[in-house]
Amino acid sequence: MRVFKFGGASVKDAAGIKNVYSVLQTAGYEDVLLVVSAMGKTTNALELVIKNYFDKSPELQSSVQEIKKYHNEILLDLFEDEKNEVFAAVNAQFAELEYFLAHNKSPNYNFVYDQIVSYGELISTTVLSHFMNFMGIKTQWLDVRNFVKTDSNYRDAEVDWELTQQNISKNVKRKILNITQGFLGSDENNFTTTLGREGSDYTAAIFAYCLNAESVTIWKDVPGVMNADPRYFENASLLNQISYREAIELAFYGATVIHPKTLQPLQKKEIPLYVKSFINPLLPGTSVSKGATLEPYMPCFIVKRNQLLLSLSSIDFSFIMEEHISEIFGLFHEYKLKVNLIQNSAISFSVCIEDKFDNFKDVNAILSKKFKVDFTEHVTLYTIRHFDEKAAHTVEENKTVILKQVSTETMQIITQES
Ligand code: ASP
Ligand code: MG
Repeated sequence: MRVFKFGGASVKDAAGIKNVYSVLQTAGYEDVLLVVSAMGKTTNALELVIKNYFDKSPELQSSVQEIKKYHNEILLDLFEDEKNEVFAAVNAQFAELEYFLAHNKSPNYNFVYDQIVSYGELISTTVLSHFMNFMGIKTQWLDVRNFVKTDSNYRDAEVDWELTQQNISKNVKRKILNITQGFLGSDENNFTTTLGREGSDYTAAIFAYCLNAESVTIWKDVPGVMNADPRYFENASLLNQISYREAIELAFYGATVIHPKTLQPLQKKEIPLYVKSFINPLLPGTSVSKGATLEPYMPCFIVKRNQLLLSLSSIDFSFIMEEHISEIFGLFHEYKLKVNLIQNSAISFSVCIEDKFDNFKDVNAILSKKFKVDFTEHVTLYTIRHFDEKAAHTVEENKTVILKQVSTETMQIITQES
């Protein structure tokens, strides 16, 4: 069996959905499982609904209507005839969402988030499945919540592999086109959970692992994995082959093409992952598999903006040692600050951190009681895997470098954002 993942950008409008059909014509669709994300920016739009719901905002209704309108336009474009049963099916899902908004009693933000945000994927897969049937491809629509079981850590749920494996082995039919939702799961009480933003790649890997799939293909609007983000670097070029190990390293340093959790299950069973263009499905794209580290071998650049460089030194010139460091990391963990680089000397300790949840001020207040704290906000962290002199120069040219760290394979440079 093969697992295909189509992300939001690939199904953002009627043309995109028609294109999924033509990709399937080219790539084949027998013995395939499709994992699909919410259409376009629907997840963000649903996040706004959730915000409006908790803020008791008068915009709540209109934010829901906006999403309905967007989907309805796509439906009209795809099916024309409003008697097609897809209209009723999608309406029923919106009705469920509205029922939830009207009747929910839970004040738990993360719980409510997952119950609401899941409609993006439930609806996109409903549309896609009806469209494939309409075009003459028989499909099996699977509610992923009956397969991927998780704990109740809403918005970042942990997969229960044993239960998930059982469900998938028992109930996924082969020899047919299966369509299911990325990103979602359910807990022991059958409440909807999610695996973290951009989690659909991970869903594809979960199914591939449990099905012993022959491969996973992530269909994207780029030709494959590039050695640099073309938005920041001229002459970005395509990587043909990456080993699992190297791909995990790249994801760890922040390459966003592949969701980091995706690679481990695939590596365990040596299932190859292909990243291919949904615009040119015949091109080979990138393969992540057992094999060459990197082909062609070249420096790879990863950029992380809006980082914070924090330096701590002891007030009394004492060493910063194990107990301090574990305490500091405990705080980072508790306040969800992500550490992207560490550098320490005897009496000082520097980290480059990402403060996604705006918690740094609280951490700063705590640390300031024990350490001398210096920090610079809005710095950029560049990571160069397989660096050479020219690559380093590309990054450093015309920038103010404030920290640099070099190991055998990796160079990291922090610059002041201009
Ligand atoms: N729709 C979800 C998101 O945008 C999951 C995904 O796209 O992978 O985060
Ligand atoms: Mg998405």
